Amino acid sequence: MQELKQKILTDGRVKNEHVLAVDSFLNHQLDIPLFDKMGEYFFNRFKDRGITKILTIESSGIAVACFTARYFNVPVVFARKTQSLTLSAMDDKYCTEVYSFTKQTQYSVFVSQRYLNQDDVILLIDDFLANGQALMGMADLVSQAGAKLAGAGIVIEKAFQEGGGKVREAGIEVCSLARIQAMKEGRITFID
Ligand code: 5GP
Repeated sequence: MQELKQKILTDGRVKNEHVLAVDSFLNHQLDIPLFDKMGEYFFNRFKDRGITKILTIESSGIAVACFTARYFNVPVVFARKTQSLTLSAMDDKYCTEVYSFTKQTQYSVFVSQRYLNQDDVILLIDDFLANGQALMGMADLVSQAGAKLAGAGIVIEKAFQEGGGKVREAGIEVCSLARIQAMKEGRITFID
């Protein structure tokens, strides 16, 4: 997606060879017209798959998931990291473990069994694909629910990391709006 690549080049800040900060339009301040176009792009790619729900992980995937869901006219479910009083400990849940690339810690995520079931056809959405932990964790939740996984929509794939290969090898169809080839010496290059 050309507009997104341009935005990454003008507003993205390369923190080091592995980490890109895009908080001016994706992770802190949100560029709403761009989000809308990203949602439309994912819709055009997956519209014939009978998607019934969009699944993401809190928190950075939620906004992209919502704009995508507007086009599909389906609910968004986000895997939660923390227990809350309204989701009682007694609720049946699907749980999985995810290693966070940015926080360098392992954490558990869960989805209540009320919101994913075997009739669902799921599109996964996330902001970044790095080592594939978040996507594989979400795919695990979908599999526990007996739901069908239609594919994954990613805003920025860092193609020099192992996640893209790993999830595609696992048979997950991935649509990335921008695929970064390298971030060497502060310079970002893309795979066309
Ligand atoms: P993975 O699970 O594929 O290793 O990492 C994906 C998750 O880590 C995404 O949900 C995203 O929030 C975060 N992440 C990974 N790499 C980056 C990065 O370079 N910049 C930012 N802002 N987040 C990242």
